[in-house]
Amino acid sequence: NIPTPHNEPPLSYLPNSKEAKKLKEECEKMRKEIPFEVPCIINGKEYKTGNIKEQLIPSDHKNVICKFHQVSEELVQEAVKGALEAKKKWEEMSFESRAAIFLKAADLVVGKYRYVMMAATMLGQGKNIWQAEIDCTAEVSDLLRFNLKYIEEIYSNQPKINPTAVWNRLEYRPLEGFVLAITPFNFTAIGANLPTAPAMLGNVVLWKPSSTAIYSNYIFYKILQEAGLPAGVIQFVPGTGSMIGKILLKNKDLAGVHFTGSTAVFKHIWLESAKNTMSLYKSYPRIVGETGGKNFHFVHESALIDNLVNHTIRGAFEYQGQKCSATSRMYIPKTIWPEVKEKLIKEVSKIKMGQSDGKIKFKIKIQKDPTSFMSAVIDKNSFENIKKYINEAEKDESVELICGGKYDDSVGWFIEPTIYLTTNPKHKLMQEEIFGPILTIYVYEADKYEETLELCDQTSPYALTGAIFANDREAIDIAIKKLRQSAGNFYINEKSTGAVVGQQPFGGARGSGNNQKAGAIINLMNWCSPRSIKEGF
Ligand code: GLU
Repeated sequence: NIPTPHNEPPLSYLPNSKEAKKLKEECEKMRKEIPFEVPCIINGKEYKTGNIKEQLIPSDHKNVICKFHQVSEELVQEAVKGALEAKKKWEEMSFESRAAIFLKAADLVVGKYRYVMMAATMLGQGKNIWQAEIDCTAEVSDLLRFNLKYIEEIYSNQPKINPTAVWNRLEYRPLEGFVLAITPFNFTAIGANLPTAPAMLGNVVLWKPSSTAIYSNYIFYKILQEAGLPAGVIQFVPGTGSMIGKILLKNKDLAGVHFTGSTAVFKHIWLESAKNTMSLYKSYPRIVGETGGKNFHFVHESALIDNLVNHTIRGAFEYQGQKCSATSRMYIPKTIWPEVKEKLIKEVSKIKMGQSDGKIKFKIKIQKDPTSFMSAVIDKNSFENIKKYINEAEKDESVELICGGKYDDSVGWFIEPTIYLTTNPKHKLMQEEIFGPILTIYVYEADKYEETLELCDQTSPYALTGAIFANDREAIDIAIKKLRQSAGNFYINEKSTGAVVGQQPFGGARGSGNNQKAGAIINLMNWCSPRSIKEGF
């Protein structure tokens, strides 16, 4: 039996604690050793193509955390060939042996490599200590351990009826071909999950990590190797998404795509794979994607205000609003808005921004402190995109700035936690995913609760996460019904972020993906193709 999984308890990192000291040492060591060099890894061999791209430190963008070699077209083809070759032995290996590799990797992540993984995620992806801890240690190991347990459940799901002289059984075969995993920057855990979940079921995978999360993802890959992952089973192919996607979506052996990223790219994958389905591929490919969000906090008059404010600050601004689940629009009744507004402004004013070693004068207050609540956004593109929304809002009469609204990219890509109020509930700030620390609020007449719930449901093309804040049971009940299709993860008096593996399976529908719940049976079922066997005696 696969050991019963548990949620890895995050460490506290209180000042002067053993773990805080070790982490500080690791960060300092990493700082001295940068930039690292990251190769492609194909069939267990390292390839240095010379086509180099840099991953910069978001809070200190003059410094490079790693230089990585981007895969070439020939190497992508080589990676497919090698993976299909590796598949012959991999799919024949017993589940126990496969599982042992991933269980060992989970232990290495929370043990020997804990601080390296964290330092790489903090420096490379701009996370503070706690965001790094819940992501690249707790969630990485949880996903590995829970997925294995769920696969065991899948395998043990067998036909219940066997008439006399018949033995019915189900064999859960891996897919025929290879799986392409494309992973985002914002969670090292998603980087770890997307290639390993299909591999656990005997598939082989080409993994294209995000160019802004290469170093932590590479460390995870090395951990898999140390844990015994055979060569070729997961091919590490950093590079340009469009080139890799183009080649692989046109490959006859493509069996599936496991994707987290933008809605636009996912739609493109969906369309391209549809075009090739009948003429090229052997089977209908399994296309699984988690994409954008425009996640809401909907507030009823009866809400407990301190709880609401606390959850909203965390939902909107933790990790600079760069979680797919981040709270980015909020609906508040007029009667309680003055009190909520005052408390939000007070809490935002206490937020520290930091994790920068820069000595340049900032337009906004930034500290040299890795325990700061917020840091920089991931890269220049993201900074420019968020800046555009801020600049436009400044000139827009239907929008009022409640707090924040400043930015500074002299040292790192820093954007203040920003709150807007709009009189237009269909404003683009209420509809579009910004992927940054911007929250927009619409204030409604308290007696228009049900109409405003409907408005919330119809406002954005996404349906990833959302929350109702209320103390009145009837109000909660109405919201649960009216917002039924508005969020794949729905919270009651809890923020829209922070799903825990094994507790709240994560994913949404509409423009947010096809809701195949990361770290859950429904996701893992995509990576096997069951064969019914009937044997007569
Ligand atoms: N699972 C994360 C959460 O609930 C979000 C993952 C994502 O950003 O894709 O906050």
